[in-house]
Amino acid sequence: MAPADRRRARTDAVAVRRVPVLLPYPFPGPFDYAVPPGMVPEPGDLVLAPLNRRESVGVVWDGAPDAALPESRLKPLTAILDAPRMRADLRRLVDWIAAYTLAAPGEVLAMALRLNALRPESAPIGWQIADTIPSEHRLTEARRRVLAALAEGPRGGAELARAAGVSSGVIRGMADAGLIVAITLPPRAPFARPDPDHPGPVLSVEQQGAAGALRQAVAARAFSVTLLDGVTGSGKTEVYLEAVAACLRAGRQALVLLPEIALSSQWLERFERRFAVAPAVWHSDLSSRTRRITWRAVAAGTAPVVVGARSALFLPFPDLGLVVIDEEHETAFKQEEGVVYHARDMAVVRARLCGAPAVLVSATPSLETMANVEAGRYRRLHLPSRHAGAALPTVRLIDLRDAPPERGRFLSPPLIAAIQAAFARGEQAMLFLNRRGYAPLTLCRHCGHRMQCPNCTAWLVEHRVRKQLQCHHCGHAEPIPPACPVCGAEASLTPVGPGVERITEEAAATFPAARRLVMASDTIPGPHAAAEAAHAIAAREIDLIIGTQIVAKGWHFPHLTVVGVVDADLGLAGGDLRAAERTVQLLHQVAGRAGRAEAPGEVLLQTFDPAHPVMQALLAGDLARFLAQEAAQRRPGHWPPYGRLAALIVSAESAEAADGTARDLARAAPRGEGIAVLGPAPAPLAILRGRHRRRLLLKTRRDIAVQPLLRSWLEKVQPRGATRIDVDVDPMSFL
Ligand code: ADP
Ligand code: ZN
Repeated sequence: MAPADRRRARTDAVAVRRVPVLLPYPFPGPFDYAVPPGMVPEPGDLVLAPLNRRESVGVVWDGAPDAALPESRLKPLTAILDAPRMRADLRRLVDWIAAYTLAAPGEVLAMALRLNALRPESAPIGWQIADTIPSEHRLTEARRRVLAALAEGPRGGAELARAAGVSSGVIRGMADAGLIVAITLPPRAPFARPDPDHPGPVLSVEQQGAAGALRQAVAARAFSVTLLDGVTGSGKTEVYLEAVAACLRAGRQALVLLPEIALSSQWLERFERRFAVAPAVWHSDLSSRTRRITWRAVAAGTAPVVVGARSALFLPFPDLGLVVIDEEHETAFKQEEGVVYHARDMAVVRARLCGAPAVLVSATPSLETMANVEAGRYRRLHLPSRHAGAALPTVRLIDLRDAPPERGRFLSPPLIAAIQAAFARGEQAMLFLNRRGYAPLTLCRHCGHRMQCPNCTAWLVEHRVRKQLQCHHCGHAEPIPPACPVCGAEASLTPVGPGVERITEEAAATFPAARRLVMASDTIPGPHAAAEAAHAIAAREIDLIIGTQIVAKGWHFPHLTVVGVVDADLGLAGGDLRAAERTVQLLHQVAGRAGRAEAPGEVLLQTFDPAHPVMQALLAGDLARFLAQEAAQRRPGHWPPYGRLAALIVSAESAEAADGTARDLARAAPRGEGIAVLGPAPAPLAILRGRHRRRLLLKTRRDIAVQPLLRSWLEKVQPRGATRIDVDVDPMSFL
């Protein structure tokens, strides 16, 4: 075409309007679509768009269309859906998370859309009395009761039948006779308004100070981050509920993120005590109907408070006035599958995008958060003592070399004595071991063979109750074989080491009269079981609780005074950057379950290494000094939080393919001042679900952003065959 013709073509045809649409798939960005005449899409509109001969839901995105596609190939949007628009702050959150984690924006959008209730709840049908009842009509007793029930106002069919004590046939008959007419009931608000003025506890002076500061942060209607830290039982929850109250009084919505919502029955009860009604709850196990109702209520602003798991971050709050992240140090906030993101950090981002305050809460704040406090980015409110004068528990170290358990057993004499003493005083005790099942390893006494997962570089864990060997990484399970699969020796397979099942067995033999309760993810499968367990403990129907990390959560058991940690060294093995920090956090949380009311608590840690800084920190209860030591160790090497870290995990079906791609990555690794690449090395879980895994670690100074480095690095390397490269920015797990 000659230049003149081109110009004419452009002026002749009415230019097709195009819009960028983000689709919930891992494409690099939004695609352009043509806008059919008469359609006026706005950013955030949910649309139906053709994609590969099918149609996909997408969201009209912001910014200029990219215009790369010629008009002739542009496909028109099919329809704008009748659904609430995706808000600008959520769209920015999607962009932000994608940019930070290097996930495709569409993958992040998919997380936000999964929550979305596209199908509106159909308006409920009800009945009311017809305007004119034929007076000559003689009413049966049943029909009279129906009219009486409707005299107070319209009702839904099922409710009406119940109230009048009639069958649905009677109601239908009355409708046919023109006595009652069907109407659409106004939608009932699914969540009652929590009452901020419902009388709460009288706060101590310290608590009042902290609550006042949080109330101010809410009143400021501006982004800020506050760390609320304080010893276990200091009343942090009561304090931040005052911030929620302030948010409610301001007529805005509040979001509270909890690391494990299934274990939060006590939290929910407390919320109800404070505000007279339950909050909206959000997690992945909700029925699709509840999900739809909740999502709509959040979008309509009629769910004033939402307590949820990390996915609640993507709910469409129109007026978010407060974000609380309770137990901010918990690694459960990190999502390890799919889009790998840290819900705590992204919650802070969401708060910033909404201009709302964020409150991070913990008795054992993460080093990351403490570094932000020290740098002046976060404000800190500190509650130094337990509520109502309850003392912090005393901690004792039991050196297992000096006081070993009996052969083949795991509870040392001093620990047994302390538990017996608690029972004698009519108090409760708890045994903590962060390991499910009966034994972490099963070994043939005859040939030394170790039972290993066929899909993973991992030992199989014996679950004696289920008569199974299980892989805790891939879910593989097999019956416990009667003979060694290698040498054939019968009855030679021996459990090595303890899990909670084995400790339970030992406890049954040691404390036969004690009423025991096991709290592990396989014995406490859901919120209902957790609530029942908590009630049984509070009602003193239990003497001894034996549990995994579930028991470390924020439980408040007033009669529990002795906590025994079976293997305090457990989390310290392995080269994890945060092994010491996490062990201190976990054991401090477990210890914090003891002595929360009048009776003083005692915590006993069984260890082979009492001189270890972690044991000494727990003994002294001096977390601040421990954090300072950790900081001093990490700072010079620019380890997080004093530097940045990103992991690349290469995985393939063959070791050669994984090695090949890992080597290509190593050759193309970014270089420069303040940049280091470690690896490739086989991952500790060198084979997972049958895939061979290699790891590389990019470490930079804090002032260097890892994302641009990662992007240009990955552009240079073509993964071999079916090899995958997963990116984990700010890795928490190094397996
Ligand atoms: P934390 O969150 O710091 O572990 P909690 O908020 O769970 O502490 O408080 C510990 C216990 O003390 C809870 O049972 C709580 O209801 C109670 N408590 C805290 N502060 C008060 C108060 N001012 N008045 C009455 N009870 C309180
Ligand atoms: Zn496995």
